[in-house]
Amino acid sequence: MSADAPLSPEEAKALQFLDRQPGEWYCTHCWARAVGVDVRFIHRFSTILPTLTALAAGYEAMADGPCKVCDARRPGGTVLKSARSVRSRGTPVGA
Ligand SMILES: [Zn+2]
Repeated sequence: MSADAPLSPEEAKALQFLDRQPGEWYCTHCWARAVGVDVRFIHRFSTILPTLTALAAGYEAMADGPCKVCDARRPGGTVLKSARSVRSRGTPVGA
């Protein structure tokens, strides 16, 4: 297995979305909705993301993490959000 295996179009699209919001956490539910792909695909991708050496340096995934979308909409404490969150580490551009 090569560490720099090409990403599928869905994976590339999902990561590009995170790159546009560097440092912002998204749960897999909101991430999938924002990107327009199946949430099960995104959830699975979030579980393998930390194991992909080519990507692990630029992205972070965690269980029960925050979510920019869900947390902002929280009406009274109850949040429907998935069990994993991801974000781009936001590597500085032009540093
Ligand atoms: Zn969310």
